[in-house]
Parts: sequence; structure tokens; C-alpha cells
Amino acid sequence: MSKNKIVVIKIGTKVIASPDKSLDKILLKGLIGQISDVLDRGLKVIVVTSGAIGAGMGLLGMKRRPVKLEELQAAASIGQSRLMHLYSDYFKERGYLTGQILLTQEDFNDRARYLNIKKTIGTLFSHRAVPVINENDTVSTEEIKCGDNDRLSSLVSDLCRADMLILLTDVDGLLDEKCNVVNFVDEMSHRVTKLARESLCELGTGGMASKLESIGRATASGIECVIANGKTKDIIVDIIEGKHAGTRFKSSGTKLLARKRWIAFSSKPRGSISVDGGAREALSNKNKSLLASGIVSVDGEFASGDVVRIADKSFTEFARGITNYSSSELLKIKGLKTSDIKGALGYKSRDEVVHKDNLVIL
Ligand code: GLU
Repeated sequence: MSKNKIVVIKIGTKVIASPDKSLDKILLKGLIGQISDVLDRGLKVIVVTSGAIGAGMGLLGMKRRPVKLEELQAAASIGQSRLMHLYSDYFKERGYLTGQILLTQEDFNDRARYLNIKKTIGTLFSHRAVPVINENDTVSTEEIKCGDNDRLSSLVSDLCRADMLILLTDVDGLLDEKCNVVNFVDEMSHRVTKLARESLCELGTGGMASKLESIGRATASGIECVIANGKTKDIIVDIIEGKHAGTRFKSSGTKLLARKRWIAFSSKPRGSISVDGGAREALSNKNKSLLASGIVSVDGEFASGDVVRIADKSFTEFARGITNYSSSELLKIKGLKTSDIKGALGYKSRDEVVHKDNLVIL
């Protein structure tokens, strides 16, 4: 890979946990050594790290993963600072600074915050510092969680327009029916998703279904992805040099604009609007905006400016967009002609409910 390319490397808990569940410092140091080699070549690297909860459990002497949310969050809080301490020490030995970034889904939903993260990462790069990202586990509850770190790493890759996303885990890649590593995937076919869902091998899927979902999102944004075993010697350097390592997923080279990618992949929809057949046709095939007249039903509570799902009458989502009207306003104007909006609401902010510039067909 050439200079200035951006690589996001996700390091899973299973990679950096030793058999007794404590942090495997030697392995972590080795990975940071490889990442430093990549940085020395002039590439930019963002690390998405897991392992905070595991590290915290180790420090607290917990034998089992706690069930209570506050215990998990306390473990994450203790573990995250330990983890960061190690990252910063090991990178420092190679002459690199680190910058910690802790995120939740809320940070991706809000476009201003989203753009701020992007600026911070860019500024860290300008100081030759390595952004080290994790979910902000101490504040995140189910509603505001990014999901897992596979998803978080694909969101980060999309946000910073990465050239490559590497997911490091404890299996050698996606395994086929005979338990051999699939070297290359050029399309997310039914067979591929089936391989990830149904573990046919003793070695298991290693959370492959969630990895593939995240990779689907990243490759659709034009990012090449790799799943590989983080415990294999020189794995990161081999991947960067294009050697046979893990499973590579071809990017689909999308042309979607940044704002549309944010609407489609990064923000979390707050609700749904179902539309009739005519509106579906107009949106899908005629590049039109969504008008109130085509709306059949409204689900969830959302405000003007939120991202919403757009579904057909059988509630199958086919688009996403930013709504100009809140859910309560839409309940009053659904099915109405644009000229009748003012009569129903007492005002009319926009003609379109979702303008075509703020709409993505999925
Ligand atoms: N944020 C969690 C941790 O640091 C990990 C979540 C994940 O690996 O998906 O422990």
C-alpha cells in the first residue's frame, strides 16, 4: 500500500486476552510494533480496540463477566485506562503519540458531532499521533450503543474514508465448508453469509456474522476489508504488503457522496415512514423527493432533521432520508397535497417531507 493511505485496524478482545483472561502484553506489544512499522512507511493508522471490559475484570479479580450494567461499566472504566496506558507506552517506545477517542452511536447520529470526530482524527494525523478508539462503555446503554466494535470500526472507516479495514480476531479468516480459509470474497453472496452464520467447523465462526455485516457496510462504501488472525506472526505487515493472509473482501467502489453515506450507514434512524406504491416508484426510479401525499403511515417519534427509514406499504425498508417534518407533524399531514399542509399545520416549512438530496435508496 502506498503512503498516506488510511488503514483502520480493529483488535478484538480474543486477540489480546491470554488464556487466563488477563491482557497478553507481549502480543499487544508485538501488534503495536507491526503498526509502528506500517506508520514508518508513511501510512495512517487508526486503531479500534476492544478489551477494556476484559482488562477491568482482570484487575478487579472477577472470574466471570458481570451481568449488572453498572459492574460492566465499572470494569470498562478501570480496564480502558489500563489498556490506554499500555497503548501509549508501547507506541511511545516507537516514537508515536496516541490519542484516545471514546464514542457511542449518538456521536454518529448527530452530523455536527460526526464531522467533529473526523476533524479530530485529521488533526491527530497531522501530529503523527495514532487515534485509539473504543466504544464509550461507561456511558453507553443498549439504546445508544454502536453495537459491537466490528460495527464501530466500520463506522469509523467510513467516517475517515479509510482505504482498508482490518478486523483482527482469533481465527484465520472466513472458513469454508471444509474449514479452509476463504482467501478472497468479491461479492457478499448468499453462500458467504451462510458460511458466517452457520459454523460448520470446530473452530467456530468467531463472531463472523457480525463481522460480515460490518464488512458489507464498509465494502459498499468503497473500503477493502480483511479478516485475519491477530495472533499470527507479522500478520498486519503481510496484509499491508498484499501477501496471502486471512480473507480479503473486495470493495464495491461506491460513488455515494459523504453526506449520503452518513444517512445510509452511520446515523441510526429514529423512526419510519411508510409510503404508497406511487411514492415508492417516484423515489426509487424517478429521483423525486418524498411528498406528504404519498405517506401512508408514520412509526416512532422523531424530530425535523432526524434520519428516518422509508418503507413500502408492507413495511419493507427501501430508502433512508432526513425528514423536514417531525412525526407529530407528519401524522397530521400524511396523505395531504402539498398545498393543504399550511391549512393542516397552520404553517408550512418545506414542500418536501424528504428532499431528494437528503435521500438514499438502499
Ligand atoms: N468495548 C468493549 C470492550 O472494550 C468491546 C466490545 C466489542 O469487542 O465488540 O471491552
